[in-house]
Amino acid sequence: MVISRKGCMLVLSSPSGAGKTTIARELLAQDDGLVMSISTTTRAKRPNEVEGRDYYFVDEATFSDMTAKDEFLECAEVFGNFYGTPQAPVREALDHGQDVLFDIDWQGTQQLTKMAREDIVSIFILPPSLEELENRLRKRAQDSDDVIAKRMAKATREISHWKSYDYVIINRDLEESLAKVNVILQAERLKRRRRVGLADFIDQL
Ligand code: 5GP
Repeated sequence: MVISRKGCMLVLSSPSGAGKTTIARELLAQDDGLVMSISTTTRAKRPNEVEGRDYYFVDEATFSDMTAKDEFLECAEVFGNFYGTPQAPVREALDHGQDVLFDIDWQGTQQLTKMAREDIVSIFILPPSLEELENRLRKRAQDSDDVIAKRMAKATREISHWKSYDYVIINRDLEESLAKVNVILQAERLKRRRRVGLADFIDQL
């Protein structure tokens, strides 16, 4: 007997370059029960990014039109660009008992937490040090010096929000961090309040 379950909203946040995107990709590749929430953004597409896989890339007029039509679950301005989580795919996945993974910043996490505290599992990923964070951003070689400087300045502010997350992981080693996120997800899936089919199971024991 499969016990029906309500999907949870797994939020990963970190300063850019702390490894969150890689962790998210690996997690999705390993876990059929998890789907990614693809955000909409007004930011320019980076060379290695794919429309509909990494983001939906739109202009500002389209973004504000979507905001006016209440199409976002949450939205925020980050580094002068707008980012938003389209709500329809999230609701559909959760209704089908799937978990949804969000790669969003602290502002978005705060909005989602206000809206659906019981469904949120939030994890903050920290770099081992600020020096290491800058190294990783430079290695990525996707942003100009100016953007890297902006991201480093923002990183300290982003990190200051660590206390509003349920879990904090220091990403020293990808495999180790991935294993930790997995353990959190497995445990959260076993929470009684999410297992809406338990009462029926108990009844037929
Ligand atoms: P990047 O431009 O490096 O892809 O993302 C910059 C920041 O925006 C990251 O911290 C990322 O988590 C955040 N972000 C991406 N999509 C969303 C979204 O839909 N909502 C919010 N609030 N933040 C987002």
